[in-house]
Amino acid sequence: MTRDWMTPSCEKCVTLSEGVYIAAMAWRRLIPAGIALLTVAGCAGGPLQSVFSSPDSGNAVEAPPPAPAPPVDPAEVQANELGSVPVLMYHRLVDDPVSVYDRTPEGFRAELERLAREGYVPVTTAEFAAGEMDIPAGKHPVVLTFDDGDPSTITIGPDNAPAEGTAVQILQQVAAANPGFRPVASMYVNADPFGGGAAGEKALRWLHENGFEVGNHTFGHTNLRLASAAEGEQDIARGDRFIREAVPGYEPTTLALPFGARPRDAESALRGSGYDYTGVLLVGANPAPSPYSEKFEPAAIPRIRSQGYDDDEAEYGSSVWLDELAANPESPYTSDGNPDVISYPAGSGSPADRFVTTAAAY
Ligand SMILES: [Zn+2]
Repeated sequence: MTRDWMTPSCEKCVTLSEGVYIAAMAWRRLIPAGIALLTVAGCAGGPLQSVFSSPDSGNAVEAPPPAPAPPVDPAEVQANELGSVPVLMYHRLVDDPVSVYDRTPEGFRAELERLAREGYVPVTTAEFAAGEMDIPAGKHPVVLTFDDGDPSTITIGPDNAPAEGTAVQILQQVAAANPGFRPVASMYVNADPFGGGAAGEKALRWLHENGFEVGNHTFGHTNLRLASAAEGEQDIARGDRFIREAVPGYEPTTLALPFGARPRDAESALRGSGYDYTGVLLVGANPAPSPYSEKFEPAAIPRIRSQGYDDDEAEYGSSVWLDELAANPESPYTSDGNPDVISYPAGSGSPADRFVTTAAAY
């Protein structure tokens, strides 16, 4: 089976041929020099109603219910729920990287610590694509994705926990040290993930039971641009069926395109005989539009390759992109803390039609 990390030039060619490089450059040019902070109070929705009752119901004097949290002023936290979301792409962790798709365990840990420090909270692709990102006010969602089911992503040890030094174990450690940093990620697998056989199926079940997403990467790591429409549909359906059989009761809802190669009928990656998805991930090379934005395309969600500053093509990698987002605080998606309202600064973008009634400019 051909794996992404063995064919970096192939992924690069796909990225360039699909104009993602051009899109990345255009995106950077469009970042405004600065947006003045608007101080007009906005529509933040009503306060959450307390549903608590006193446990001492036998007492004559009941304690008053806790006061509801006051609504957050979206301007105060610079909420922008039409902003961009980095969807980071990882493949495997190795001590000595051999391609731009590899990261060291130390590099991975440092990136997670940076994300925590800069106010990011991991969400899964499924949560992102469905627009169900319930994160605190002022925080930014980030999606952590892992392709190809490498054992360095997760291997379950005899104690039924992720083994030392695997990506999942490192993520758990960083989350434990940074309250609010959710230990969740989306794993895109083919046949024989995480070492294959019973070990692989055990890992898939552990992931599902612990809040991680298991997504489809096709059964045979098929290039959907080169395959016939029928072959492509069959291999997506076969990968979907494999996951459902390994994790009873679970259904994948998102797909990562092998090599980032889109089928000629892009919608056929989203739905076909045996599968129906809310999101399809590309390979490169810029932050993804908010799922509430008119720019969001469920069949073509861009990702950013995780990379340090000194790697080849670092200008399209995560370290440089996270710098860009940090330098332009109006650019990243910033939560208003209220899942019932989509808050955004007036003039910063337009919500998709289906979200117009729940979106509120301030
Ligand atoms: Zn792959």
